Amino acid sequence: MILLFGPVGAGKSVQGEILSEKLGWKWLSTGQMFRSSQDPEVKRILASGELIDDETTYGVVQEAFAHEQNASRIILDGFPRTMAQAEWLERPANGLGRNVALVLVLEVSDEEITNRLAGRGRIEDTPDKIKRRMEIYRADTNPILEYLESKDVVVERVNGEGSVNEINDRLVGVIKKYKLAN
Ligand code: AMP
Repeated sequence: MILLFGPVGAGKSVQGEILSEKLGWKWLSTGQMFRSSQDPEVKRILASGELIDDETTYGVVQEAFAHEQNASRIILDGFPRTMAQAEWLERPANGLGRNVALVLVLEVSDEEITNRLAGRGRIEDTPDKIKRRMEIYRADTNPILEYLESKDVVVERVNGEGSVNEINDRLVGVIKKYKLAN
C-alpha cells in the first residue's frame, strides 16, 4: 500500500487516480468516500472544512478494505489524517500497517494552493474553509509523518508543483526507486 499525503488542492486525487491506472492498483480516498455520503452530519462537517471523527473514519476505511483481496496494491489517499488514525493504522490487529510500503507526500505552497482552488468550486472550497483545511493539514501532518518514520515506514516528499505529468513522473520515479513498479 502507498499512502498519499498532501494539503487540500495538492492534486492527491488526480495523482492517485493516474497512479492507480499506471500501476494497476486500487485507489481508495477517504475524502471521496465522505463526499459520496448521504449522511447530513457528514455533509455538514465536510462543508465546514473540519475533519470527520476518527471512529466514523475507521468505519469507512475498514469497510473499504473489507472488499479488497490485496491490501498491498492499494493507493490510500487521505488517511491517516490524525495521530490517532496513524496509531490505529499501525495496530497489528488491523493488519494494515504491515502493508504500508511507502508514504508519498505532495508538497505544495499555500500560495499555489490558493490559486489552484480558486476555480474548483466544491462546496467546501470557500476561502475561509480552504484556509482552515490548510491549517489542519500543516498542524497535524508532520507529527504523523514522524510517527510513521519511527515505525520504519518510508516517507518521501515530492515537489507537487508543476504540470500533472511532471508531478506524476516524479511520483513514479520514487515508486520505481522502491521497486514497487517496473
Ligand atoms: P480530501 O478529499 O482528502 O481533501 O478530504 C475531504 C474532506 O473529507 C476533509 O476535509 C475531511 O472533512 C474529510 N476527510 C477525508 N479524509 C479524512 C480522514 N482521514 N479523517 C477525517 N476526515 C477526513
